[in-house]
Amino acid sequence: MRYVSTRGEAPVLAFDDVLLTGLARDGGLYVPESWPQVGADEWRAMRALSYGELAYRVIRPFVAGRVDDQTLARLAREAYAGFGHQAVAPLKQLDHGLWLMELFHGPTLAFKDMAMQLLGRLFDHVLAQRGQRITIAGATSGDTGSAAIEACRDRASIEIFMLHPHGRVSEVQRRQMTTVLSPNVHNIAIDGSFDDCQDLVKGLFNDLPFRDEVGLSAVNSINWARIMIQIAYYAHAALSLGAPERKVSFAVPTGNFGNIYAAYAARAMGLPIERLIVGSNSNDILTRFFGSGEMKIGTVHPTLSPSMDIQVSSNAERLLFDLYDRDGAALAKAMHGFRKDGRLDVGRDRLERARRLFSATRYDDAETTEIIRREYAATGEILDPHSAIGVAAARAAGRTDDTPVVALGTAHPAKFPDAVEKAVGKRPALPDRMKDLYTREERCMRLPNDLGALRAFIQARVGAPGGKRSAA
Ligand SMILES: *Cc1c(COP(=O)(O)O)cnc(C)c1O
Repeated sequence: MRYVSTRGEAPVLAFDDVLLTGLARDGGLYVPESWPQVGADEWRAMRALSYGELAYRVIRPFVAGRVDDQTLARLAREAYAGFGHQAVAPLKQLDHGLWLMELFHGPTLAFKDMAMQLLGRLFDHVLAQRGQRITIAGATSGDTGSAAIEACRDRASIEIFMLHPHGRVSEVQRRQMTTVLSPNVHNIAIDGSFDDCQDLVKGLFNDLPFRDEVGLSAVNSINWARIMIQIAYYAHAALSLGAPERKVSFAVPTGNFGNIYAAYAARAMGLPIERLIVGSNSNDILTRFFGSGEMKIGTVHPTLSPSMDIQVSSNAERLLFDLYDRDGAALAKAMHGFRKDGRLDVGRDRLERARRLFSATRYDDAETTEIIRREYAATGEILDPHSAIGVAAARAAGRTDDTPVVALGTAHPAKFPDAVEKAVGKRPALPDRMKDLYTREERCMRLPNDLGALRAFIQARVGAPGGKRSAA
C-alpha cells in the first residue's frame, strides 16, 4: 500500500514513512492511493473475532510489507489488553434501532485511546526496526495530552514532553498526565496560557537545527495511522449488528473530523454504511459546511464539550480530496484560498455528493445539558457532553426499521463531572481501576514561558545515548 498527499506535490510514501511524517511536505494529508476492498465473505469471517484480532485483520492491508503479520497481530492484541471492558468497545441499546458504542474504556477514558494505544506501539516497532529514536513534543489544554502520554510511556524509542498551562487544567486532567512516572515521560507546567504552550511547541518545531538534533515529532490528529486504527471499531459495530447483510448508520460527535472520516474509510473498504451523521457543539463549521457547501472559519467558543472546540476540522481535507476527484492541484489551490480568506466554497455539485452520505446537526450548551438529562430519564444512561451530542444527532436523523444507528460514546462521564452533575444532579464516579487517581504520586516540572529554558530542559534529557535520532 502506498500513500499520496491530498495536495499532490509531496512524495508518495510507504506506511512506515507516513506514520513518522504526519503532515505531508506540501502541507497536505496522506491518504491511501486506493482503498483495499473487503468482500462480504471476508466481513462475515471477522464476526467471530475478538476486538484485537478484528483490528489486526482490518489494518493488515494498510501496512502490508512494512509491518509483518505476526508483529501487527501481537501489537493489536497488546494494545487492547489493558482496557477496562472485556469487549473493548461494547454496544449498548438505548432505544429501538439506536445503539451506543462505548469507546471510553481505555486508560484515559476517552476514545482517543482506541487509536493511541496501538499508535504508540507501532511507532516504537517501526523506530526500533529503523534504529531511530524520536522526541515527541506537544501542548495540551487537557485531553489529548493524557492519551499521548499513555500511548508513549515506557516505549524504548520515544521521549515525550507534554506542556500544559500551569493551574489551568482540571485536577483530573492534570493527574491523568502527571501520575505517569515513566522515565521517558516529561510533564511541563508552563507559567502561561494554553496559547503560550502552543507557541512554545511551534517555536521548537521552527528551530530546524534543534528539530534535527533531538528528532522532533508529534502524535497529532492528522496522522494517517490514527484514522486507520479507528476503522476497526466501525467494522466491529456493523458486524455485531448484522453487516454485511444489513446496513448500519453512525452518529459521531465531531471536532477534527478524524473519527468520522474513519467511518468513511470503512465504507470505502466495502462495509455497508448507509449514513454518517455529524454532531457539533456551537463550534459548528462542519454543520454549516454540510448545510451550504461553504467552509468558513469562525471564532472558537468554549463549550461543555471542549474536545470539539475547534475552528478548522483538519481531517475534512481528506474528504475534500475525494470531492475534488483526487485532484491534488485543484485542492491545494482551494486550501490556500481557505488559509488566506478563511473560506472555501465547494459548489453545488460537490455539496450534493457529500450530502448523499453525510448530514449534520449542532447543539449548544443548554441543549446539551437538556439532552444529558433527558437520556438519563429515558434510558438510565449517563452520557458525557460529547457523547450526548452524538446521541441527539442520531435521534434527530431519524431511523428506519432495517437500518440501526450507532452513536459513538467518546468520553466517560466521569471525565466531565461538572457538566454531568448539572444535568442529572449527581457526580459520576471514576471506574474502580482509577479510584486512587487523587492519591497517586505526581511528577511535573514547572517552567517559565521561555523557549530557551524549554529547549535546554529537553536537550538535557535527550542526550541520546545510543541510536541516532531522525526528524519527522
Ligand atoms: C477528540 C474528541 C472528539 C472529536 O473527535 P474528532 O476525531 O476530532 O472529530 C469527540 N469527543 C471526545 C471526547 C474527544 O476527545
